[in-house]
Order: sequence, then C-alpha cells, then structure tokens
Amino acid sequence: MARHQHQVRGGTGIQVDGLAKTFKGAGGRGVAALEDAHLHTEQGSFLALLGPSGCGKSTILRILAGLEEPTAGSALVDGRTPEELRRGSQLGIAFQDHALLPWRSVLKNIALPFEVAGRPVDRAYVEELVDLVGLRGFEKARPAQLSGGMRQRVSIARALVLKPSVLLLDEPFGALDDMTRQNLNLELLRIWTEKPATTLLVTHGIAEAIFLSDQVAVMSPRPGRVKEVIEVDLPRPRTPEMMRTPAFHALVDRASELLFGLDGRAAAEA
Ligand code: ADP
Ligand code: MG
Repeated sequence: MARHQHQVRGGTGIQVDGLAKTFKGAGGRGVAALEDAHLHTEQGSFLALLGPSGCGKSTILRILAGLEEPTAGSALVDGRTPEELRRGSQLGIAFQDHALLPWRSVLKNIALPFEVAGRPVDRAYVEELVDLVGLRGFEKARPAQLSGGMRQRVSIARALVLKPSVLLLDEPFGALDDMTRQNLNLELLRIWTEKPATTLLVTHGIAEAIFLSDQVAVMSPRPGRVKEVIEVDLPRPRTPEMMRTPAFHALVDRASELLFGLDGRAAAEA
C-alpha cells in the first residue's frame, strides 16, 4: 500500500539510538527513567509515543528538545542534534503545562517564537492560527482569563506558528474535552499534511495515536523501554470515518494488548 506520500522526501527523521537517562534519586540511588531506547523514523513522518505514566515518554521528548542531557546514546532529528535544532528555530514544542507568558495576550503569546527567532511577525498567519484553534474573540485576553483547554490551544498555535520542520508535542491535548480534542486532532492533521513536519507526539490516547501516526512506539515502565513499534499502514489522508474500520480496530487492539496484556483492561483508557 502507498502508505503516505511524505516519505518519498527521504531524509533522516528521528534517529534515537541506545538512549538512556538515569536521574539521581533520593539517597544517591539512580532512577532509570529510560534504558536503551531505539527509534527510527523518516523525515516528515509522524511518530506517537504511547505508554503508562512514568515510562520515559517525556524524557525522550525533552532530550530531543535539548532540555535534558542523555546519560548514554544519541538523538538526532533530521540530521541535527537537539542543540542545533533549538538554534535553527525549526522546532515547534508544546507541553502539557502550557508555559505561556502570563503578562502577554493570546496574540502576543502565539507570536512569541517570531521574536525569539528575530524574525518579523507574520500577522496574517498568527490570525489564521487564532481562528484555527478557535480563539477568535480572545486575542487580547491574558492566560489567566482563559480556561485550561484554551491555554493549551494557545500553546499549540504557538508551536505551529513558525511552520517548523520538527514538532515535539507532549500530551498537548491532555486536559481537553473529547470534542475539542478530536477537533484539534483533525486540525493538527490538516496542518501537518500541508507541511509534514517530523513529529513526535506523546500521548496516552490509543485511538488518537493510531489515527494520527505513521508509527506508534509502545513503551513500558521501570525502566522505561520501547516495547514495540506498530506500523500504522492506514492510507492518508486520514478521515474520521477510518476510525470505524476493522483495520483501525485491529491496530487499536494490538496497541491495547501491548499496553495492558490480553485481559481486556484496555477498555478503560482507550
Ligand atoms: P512519562 O512522560 O512517560 O510519564 P517521564 O519521562 O516524565 O515519564 O519520567 C520517567 C521516569 O523518570 C519517572 O519515574 C519519573 O519519576 C522520573 N523522572 C523524570 N524526570 C525526573 C527528574 N527531573 N528527576 C528525577 N526523576 C525524574
Ligand atoms: Mg510525561
């Protein structure tokens, strides 16, 4: 099957090899957050990290973002080190805790990456993103005046505003209701299809991971390891109808088995 046209661009994507991270714990004992992780994707492809809390998902993302030094191993995205990615302003990041600047308006928070990169603000695109994430009418509001979900939407818009070639998203839709979450997934997919960034999405939504991704890496905790990488060979463009196909359900079942075993406990979290 022609999986998706983006991969013909080739390139190097995410190249994580033998990545390990040990944090210093209480009493000098180390906490092995991550052990011997390997991940390989192609440029412009979409990878989701799926796994229970504490299995090292954010640690991988933070290493790729240059916010954490690995204890061992190497991490490159599109041939660049985390340090190089940060300097090149080709990186869009959105975290669970939105990290917006409290004294800035919605509009100015979204436009911030332009200033950090020393580039003129593309006002038209900032406005387009305001519409896209459903914040029209709140342009002048400060983060404290917004709901948690709205703050996350500001944070996603900010991650996208430079049209980055690399996107690192750490549970960006975690605190949103299902409807908003589904809508934002579709918008994210639309934007990504227009300009396929090499993407790493951390999530614990199984259906969401399968729906969006080319590959889903299922992780297990203590120490954090990549258990298996599922190839999502659903055609693109993806449509919500695909979520009702047997192929989609088979992939969800596979991921659930890996996460929870075969006893059906997956239902609660899927
Ligand atoms: P996940 O994102 O999958 O929930 P994390 O990558 O945040 O997991 O954390 C993996 C493990 O590393 C957890 O046991 C967590 O407690 C530990 N950990 C993460 N960050 C730190 C830190 N700065 N200091 C000590 N331990 C940490
Ligand atoms: Mg995390």
